[in-house]
Amino acid sequence: MSDAGSRRDRVHVRAPGKINLFLGVGPIDGDGYHALSTVFQAVSLYEDVIATAADDFSLTVSGVADPSTVPLDDRNLAMRAAKVLAAATGYDGGVHLEIRKSVPVAGGMGGGSADAAAALVACNELWRTGLGHDRLHELGARLGADVPFALTGGTAVGTGRGDVLTAALARGRYEWVLITDEDGLSTPEVYRAYDVARAEEDRVYADSPLDPFDVPPSFFEALLTGDAEALAPCLSNQLEAGAFRLRPALEGTIERGVAAGALAGIVSGSGPTIALLCTDAVAADRVAERLRSTGRTALRAHGPVRGAQVVDEGR
Ligand code: ATP
Repeated sequence: MSDAGSRRDRVHVRAPGKINLFLGVGPIDGDGYHALSTVFQAVSLYEDVIATAADDFSLTVSGVADPSTVPLDDRNLAMRAAKVLAAATGYDGGVHLEIRKSVPVAGGMGGGSADAAAALVACNELWRTGLGHDRLHELGARLGADVPFALTGGTAVGTGRGDVLTAALARGRYEWVLITDEDGLSTPEVYRAYDVARAEEDRVYADSPLDPFDVPPSFFEALLTGDAEALAPCLSNQLEAGAFRLRPALEGTIERGVAAGALAGIVSGSGPTIALLCTDAVAADRVAERLRSTGRTALRAHGPVRGAQVVDEGR
């Protein structure tokens, strides 16, 4: 290890939230998890994690309306990430993590996973533990299925539980409006509601001749065009059935987004955030403004963006 004088005592990492452009839900495996086929896109709504040298482990969180929604102990994914990295590398010190959140909590945009990815990268840099991307990816997958994607960013296909990633050939920049809801949804509860909905409506899947949760070739063709109008009709989230069951108003929220000028809308991941795809930035600004005037919280973002990155603070 290098001498203490050359070490940084503070590392700032920024990691993106995600939207699932496509989410196909497959059969349940032996551990009770659904197999997934998903296409992630990292979007410009970021979590900032600042790691400072410390003897033990501590955490602060800002940027959330209700602080009680984010645990500050070992249940916090960023804290777990730091401890998993320390255990894997034999590092015997600690860290203070300052988390500045912008991704809605329990919103289906992978905010906690972004925090974990950012904490892995920040501590790896702070502690000079020198793990490469593959090893960080492996540790990330142990923490949560969405963590590897928050490390990688861009647009990628996720299989397995969403953690086995392949880069997707995608062109262009997509403009999004995100309608958020402070009242989050629990991902496991959404999967349970999906199971009930699917059992009731098996016909939805029974009429498909293909493996029904695979990403269809037409989706990749649309992604290659770089054209939002080509991608819009391909956006699809089978898990929506669970989110709609728990929060029926979400269907109307999508309709209002389209009525306000969006090309299409879907539930992001397990929800309740609604992601509206728009023709271009001007159209998206207009849609966001219209929705805000009706009292909704509408955020603007674009994608794809890079995964977790060290922010140069000019030191
Ligand atoms: P998913 O990745 O399952 O789609 P999500 O984006 O819907 O998750 P998160 O914001 O990641 O939701 O948080 C889900 C729950 O995880 C929260 O309700 C909270 O109790 C817990 N949690 C653990 N660590 C964090 C964190 N760093 N930030 C936010 N929530 C966290």
